[in-house]
Amino acid sequence: MPQVVIIGAGPTGATLALLLVQRGITVSLVEATTDFHRVFRGEGLMPSGLDALQQMGLFEILEKIPHREINAWEVILGKKSLFRVSEPMEVDSPPCTLVSQPPLLTTLIEQAQKYPEFEFFQGVAVKDLLWVDERVVGVKLGDGRDILARVVVGADGRNSVIRQRAGLHLEKQPKDIDILWFKLADCGKFTSKNVFYAVSNGDRSFGMFHGAEEGKLHLSWILFPEDEIDQKPGQWAPIFASVAPFWMAEHFLKVADTIERPIKLSVVVGRCPCWYAPGVILLGDAAHPMSPIRAQGINVALRDVIVATNHLVPLLQTKATDAEIDAALSNIQTEREPEIIRAQQLQAEEANQAEILRKYAFIRPIMFFGAHLLRQKIRHNWIRRQHEMRVGVTQVSLKV
Ligand SMILES: Cc1cc2nc3c(=O)[nH]c(=O)nc-3n(C[C@H](O)[C@H](O)[C@H](O)COP(=O)(O)OP(=O)(O)OC[C@H]3O[C@@H](n4cnc5c(N)ncnc54)[C@H](O)[C@@H]3O)c2cc1C
Repeated sequence: MPQVVIIGAGPTGATLALLLVQRGITVSLVEATTDFHRVFRGEGLMPSGLDALQQMGLFEILEKIPHREINAWEVILGKKSLFRVSEPMEVDSPPCTLVSQPPLLTTLIEQAQKYPEFEFFQGVAVKDLLWVDERVVGVKLGDGRDILARVVVGADGRNSVIRQRAGLHLEKQPKDIDILWFKLADCGKFTSKNVFYAVSNGDRSFGMFHGAEEGKLHLSWILFPEDEIDQKPGQWAPIFASVAPFWMAEHFLKVADTIERPIKLSVVVGRCPCWYAPGVILLGDAAHPMSPIRAQGINVALRDVIVATNHLVPLLQTKATDAEIDAALSNIQTEREPEIIRAQQLQAEEANQAEILRKYAFIRPIMFFGAHLLRQKIRHNWIRRQHEMRVGVTQVSLKV
């Protein structure tokens, strides 16, 4: 019987499994999908996430898999550049880096598989929890097998089955947006510049960057309920062009044929008031699904993993009681919650600014004109707001 069973081999589950087996803890990791190439996985790692990987001793993995450092952020408002900020923004921190998740997850699992303490169940979903005397003692797999363990970790993402089965409630933030995620060809100029563009014109906004994968631009289009989305992919080119400055619009029209069918991503943002029940804890998106704004999800998830490792390893290396383990589960939430609350608050503030522009059409020209007049002050405030989202709010150090 493993000491820990982890459900979900996303960034949370895969890194936690590796850290635990490296410390002699036996782990079963269960992943529902048969490979890691699912339709969409976030790519942006902030300095806080890169620092977490470094503390885990995994930094050199990045060198071996497709990744790309961002050189700058540029905000374009009303087809004109409002400001540009170079990366890295802080002295002594690495620049925000885009990392292709499938090879990252594959490499993490390969590393874990070197340890006899590790067992991987891939292509089978967890259907339910196993309980004894109101305590979770394991999981039931879709193929009928049971896995018993001292601690069950729900790292199964924003639609977590573990959360539902443990009766843990997710408080969703009221305004969920949807995003249409496009990929399209680059022409070389975006590759060499490596800028993340935030583009807004009228009530339309999108973000665009060159992804970790060679030659592909990613474009995330903010979608409102009234939007028509049944266009053919190529028909989006003039729509993008109508929002973008001339030089960017020209590119969209030129590569219209390369625009791939978009993926619709329903963004869920929220937080569980309680992340644990006796014998089970939620981590990463399962406990606190994050908005895609300023790429927080993977970063805070990796920091959850460090804190969970600090609390669980010393107990699992000794003969800790159930009460001691449950106290540790509670302490993990207590230590991580302030950063999650703050990150979600900052993400909501960024989202509200876009919402004001969308709702109040009559003030838009004044705001656009004013913004260009006050660009230095706006740039300064923007940098200030990014700081906590980039480096984290609390001190997170791997201690075991
Ligand atoms: C549009 C968008 C853009 C984003 N961009 C970024 C970004 O650039 N940077 C960033 O940091 N974050 C980003 N995020 C957020 C980020 O993707 C998540 O926060 C992060 O992936 C959470 O990791 P996780 O391991 O907790 O969950 P997930 O990555 O969701 O992994 C959960 C895993 O559990 C598996 N699973 C689910 N149910 C079961 C089950 N019953 N049994 C077994 N396995 C199961 C799933 O297959 C999956 O592999 C973005 C999110 C969105 C929506």
